This record gives sequence, C-alpha cells and structure tokens, in this order.
Amino acid sequence: MDLFDVGEPIRDRAAPDGEIETRWERRRFGARLVNPANRRKLTVIVVGTGLAGGSAAATLAEAGYRVRSYCYQDSPRRAHSIAAQGGINAAKNYRNDGDSIYRLFYDTVKGGDFRARESNVYRLAQLSVNIVDQCVAQGVPFAREYGGLLDNRSFGGAQVSRTFYARGQTGQQLLLGAYQAMERQIAAGNIEMNARHEMLELIVVDGRARGIVVRDLVTGSVSAEFADAVVLASGGYGNVFFLSTNAKGCNVTATWRAHRKGALFANPCFTQIHPTCIPESGTHQSKLTLMSESLRNDGRVWVPSRASDSRQPADIPEDERDYYLERIYPSFGNLVPRDIASRAAKHVCDEGRGVGPGGLGVYLDFADAIRRLGRGAVEARYGNLFEMYQRITGEDPYVVPMRIYPAVHYTMGGLWVDYDLQSTIPGLFVIGEANFSDHGANRLGASALMQGLADGYFVLPNTISNYLAAGPFPDISDRAEVARARQAVVDRLDRLLSVDGDRTVDSFHRELGHVMWEYCGMERTEEGLTKAIGLIRGLRDEFWQRVKVPGTGEQLNQNLEKAGRVADFFELAELICIDALHRRESAGGHFRAESQTPDGEALRHDDEFGYVAAWEFTGDRPVLHSEDLTFEYVHPSTRSYK
Ligand SMILES: Cc1cc2nc3c(=O)[nH]c(=O)nc-3n(C[C@H](O)[C@H](O)[C@H](O)COP(=O)(O)OP(=O)(O)OC[C@H]3O[C@@H](n4cnc5c(N)ncnc54)[C@H](O)[C@@H]3O)c2cc1C
Repeated sequence: MDLFDVGEPIRDRAAPDGEIETRWERRRFGARLVNPANRRKLTVIVVGTGLAGGSAAATLAEAGYRVRSYCYQDSPRRAHSIAAQGGINAAKNYRNDGDSIYRLFYDTVKGGDFRARESNVYRLAQLSVNIVDQCVAQGVPFAREYGGLLDNRSFGGAQVSRTFYARGQTGQQLLLGAYQAMERQIAAGNIEMNARHEMLELIVVDGRARGIVVRDLVTGSVSAEFADAVVLASGGYGNVFFLSTNAKGCNVTATWRAHRKGALFANPCFTQIHPTCIPESGTHQSKLTLMSESLRNDGRVWVPSRASDSRQPADIPEDERDYYLERIYPSFGNLVPRDIASRAAKHVCDEGRGVGPGGLGVYLDFADAIRRLGRGAVEARYGNLFEMYQRITGEDPYVVPMRIYPAVHYTMGGLWVDYDLQSTIPGLFVIGEANFSDHGANRLGASALMQGLADGYFVLPNTISNYLAAGPFPDISDRAEVARARQAVVDRLDRLLSVDGDRTVDSFHRELGHVMWEYCGMERTEEGLTKAIGLIRGLRDEFWQRVKVPGTGEQLNQNLEKAGRVADFFELAELICIDALHRRESAGGHFRAESQTPDGEALRHDDEFGYVAAWEFTGDRPVLHSEDLTFEYVHPSTRSYK
C-alpha cells in the first residue's frame, strides 16, 4: 500500500544548544517580554481546564493577560486530570537515596526509549522541583511523614523514591489547587470561563492561530471566538481504543481540528498500555478502571507456574507461583516500566497462565505487604484504591489478590511543538497530554502530572510572551476565514444529523476500538496494521452512511457530541496505524513483533528511526516530516531493567 509521502525534515528552531543545565535559563532570557501594562491588551484562549490548561490559565491571568478559558465539562474542576491517582514526580531527593535532576532526566530519556528530546526532558526534570513547591504553597495536601516532611513512594522505571502523592487522589488534589488559582482570577475578571463549550474548529488568519469556533453544548449555538494566541490543553486521545482508563469524554477533536488546519501531529502510534487495570468483564463495558501504579510498590505480581491452573490463589503454594517480574527483571522487579510490565503480562497470559475469566488477568497480591506492614499501613497508603476495586469486582483485595490486566491509558503522541511549546501554526501553543513533548515512546509513571504542570505553570507563561510581544494583532472578525470556519462547523453538524441511519455512534466507536486493540494494541505486525487500515476505512465510510444521531443541533445532544468525536477518531486511527506501520522498529509502547531481541524485548533501530515522526495533513496521503533526535548526554543503549 502506498500510504504516505515523505516531506522535508523539520527542526526545533526554538531550542538552545550548549550546556544542557543552562538551556532553559538562556531561552527564558532570550525570550521577548511584554510589559505589564501591555499584557492587559492581549487575549489568550486556553482550551482545557485540566492540570495543563488550568495551571496555564491561572498563571497567564495572574501575569495580567486576558484569558478566555473553555472546557466541555460543566465545571473546570471536572477535567479528566481529576482521575489521576498515584502521584507526581519531583527530583527533590528528600529520601537521600541518590536522586537528582540529572537522574530524573536520565530515567525519563531512557524510560522513553530514546525517542524524546534531551533539552525538553532536562527542563522538565529541572522544573519538577518548582512544581511541588508551587502546589504546597497552594495548599495541596500531599502525604507527609511523621516528622512533617513530604512523603515519597516509588514508581516504575526508577530505583529512587521521588513520587509525591495525596493518597490515591493526587490528580484531584492538584487540580483543586489549579482550579482555586483559576477561580481567583475568574473572580478578579481576568479569566472568562466558558464551561460546556466544545471547540470544533481552529481559526487561522494570515498564517496565525487567531481563535476557535465553539458550540455551546447546552443551547447548541455555534460561535467564533477570537484571541491573540490559542493554547490547546485538551488532553490525550486514548479513547480511540474505545475501552481505556480515560474519562469517557476524552477525545482528539481539538488537536485533530488543528492538525487539519496545518499543525503537524507527532508520533501518534506511541500509545501507552498500563499494566495494572481491572480486567474487562464483558461486552457491556464502556470504560476500564486503572489500579494505580503505586500499588506495585507493595503488591507482588504473579501467576500460577503451570498453565490452566484453576485453583483459588490461596490454594496455590509459594513454590507453584511465578513472580515473573521479580524473576525476569531482578533489579527493578515489580517496578519495571509500564511497557515492559504490560508485555510481560500478555506473554504469561498467552502461555495459558492467566487467571480469572478468559485467562486475561494476573494477580497483584498484597498478602506479603499486609504481613510486613499491617493492614492499617496498607489501608493508609491505598485505602481508596482498594475500596474502588472492591466496589467494581465484589472481591476484597485485603483478602484475595487483585486481578489486573493491561489497558490503554495514555498517549505520548500529540501535536508537534517546539521547545517553546508552539506548534507549526504560529500562535498555536499546545501543552499537557495534547502535545507530543517529553515522554518519547513510553511515559514513566507520575510524569504526566509533572509535565502538564511544568508546561502550564512554568514553561508556557515564559515562552508565549515571546510570541505575544508582536501583538496585539489586528481585528479579524470580518475576515472571510472566520465565516468559513464557522460555516464548516455548522455544515458538519448538519451532515452528522442528516445521515439518519440505523447504527448508534457507540456501536461504531466500539468496533473501531476493537480493530485498534486487536491490530494496533500491545503487539503490532505489518500484516495486522495493513489489515487495520482497510477495516478502519471501510468502517468510516459505513459510519457516514449509517450513523444515527437522534435529536437536533439546537439543544443539549450528547449523541451529536459523541458523533463528531468518533468521526475524528476514525481519521486519527488511520494515521496511528500508518505511523505504526512505517516505524519498523520496536520502541517503548510501540512493539513491532518483527523487531524483537531473542528474549522478546523491544528492539530499536536508531539509525533508521531515531527521529520524531511529524505528520502533515493533506486531505489525501499524509506527509511525513522527521525531526532527528540527537543524544549528547544519555547515549542510546539497549534498555535493560534486568
Ligand atoms: C485513571 C488515570 C490515572 C492517572 N494517574 C496519573 C498519576 O498518578 N500520575 C501522573 O503523572 N499521571 C496520571 N495519569 C495521566 C494524567 O492524569 C493525564 O495525562 C493528565 O491529567 C492530562 O492532563 P491535561 O491537562 O493534559 O488534560 P485533561 O485533564 O484531559 O484535560 C483536558 C481538558 O480539555 C478540555 N477539552 C478537550 N477537548 C475539548 C474541546 N474540543 N473543546 C473544549 N474543551 C476541550 C476538557 O474539557 C478538559 O478540561 C492518569 C491517567 C488516568 C486515566
């Protein structure tokens, strides 16, 4: 199949070179500033109120810019970030266990399987320490040790304890911090909050991002909204797989619409499958539930040593159990990174040693921890997670081991951005999970919150001024591009409503997800991906002929909202498969069965694929622009956690 064209390589022109320790400082100093009196004349639209968007909106407004904030939930504090459980990394070295900014940088570059930019990752590690201070100052109730210091725990891919947490509700507590900071600015009149509004188009005039087209989800009215710059903080696209740990509303529409308007989409095939989720229990399910990675601090992962062993876990003696992560990866044990732990779970299940219905599960056992620490200590660390597990499965994890299985969780790919977090459309900045940024081919646990807050509190507010210093830009409300963008949204909504077919949106989404999981999930092959592309194209055509969207556009209509999102997922799914097909190597979460070591580990091909794949939308075949990655500090090596 001739699926794509190759275009000119792309370069990150904003990144400084020289000593890595001072790159961020030098970039900040080099960036143009806007004086406080002029900031009031500049407007920034921020789409998204999760940790990235919430922190950015609050910080920009605090600095004096006029901020217009949008989200589709009924309140900014219901953004998906609220679901984050386990924690946030920071290189504070409170444990005196050998941590440092350099080690966090090293772990993240290595964890991402050498497919992230060194400059970005180093900056992230530097800023990690500021984030925790900022959040503590806001009153975020991080867990503390008896003496009052902030407590830490370990996450995968690290041999130090650097994960700060608030029980199993870290995202919620951090988001309340960002939300309060936003609320202060909403009350001060510096943030105009537009909840229940969905961005459906980007407005580009004279080559600059100048606004968005939104639909008021309650009244259905469609309007064009303007600004001097637009920030997308719209989260990840894991729900392209239908079943994932993401909130049901998570979607790709904001970034996909920007992609169609010229923003390159980077590494879409780098998706993360999390090893510890509650296994699927039937076809009725529309969502999967994460059991935080933090549980692997104390829980031990095992399966029966022999296949088809149907005994209850308590009846299986120690010497007939296989603690396979501890066996295969003695250095990191249960705390190997997610891609490694997920694939290992798949292998033991493929061998017929999986547990629970369908054999698609492995045990996560706390018996040793309860014996060692006492039930009270385990409850203090993970109580709400245990309760959640019990409510969903009806089993008591204090008594029987949890059953877990890998599930789609996070997307490392996203819109391409330079060091300033600016996309290929001037004036369009992308932050948080929506950009491709810092995690390479595999994100380490507890580093998404770190990246989202680094972007929102510290990076964007410094770099966006460099762009805004050239503003305010001329009024564009009468420009033809604006009318065209608005009309395109109205036409598309009408088209979705007028198909009037006989299949629900969800049935299409479920089928799409099945194709993606089957052929572009934990293991990918040339044959499977080629097949998937054909299936996706067929299903997309069928969608536009048979989808049934009841109701009208002039009212609250969640089917219409979903239909638009699923239509975008179809287009994205094809690009994900093309990206996965073209990358004939295994790297992090992208495992090509054709490219593995003799013992089944991912095998990279740095000479051929040591680049970021940034895709251009053409309406026909996508065009690949590659950004070469260079490693001056952490030299690419075979990733080993043994
Ligand atoms: C169950 C779970 C647990 C996790 N636990 C951790 C953890 O412990 N540590 C960690 O580091 N990471 C964790 N993660 C990952 C982390 O939570 C996310 O990566 C992160 O919260 C994403 O934040 P964000 O601000 O980029 O996007 P989100 O929080 O997803 O926010 C997106 C925002 O964009 C808005 N939006 C989207 N599209 C549109 C549109 N078209 N128009 C208008 N508004 C729009 C939404 O309304 C929302 O406000 C977890 C993820 C899951 C699923």
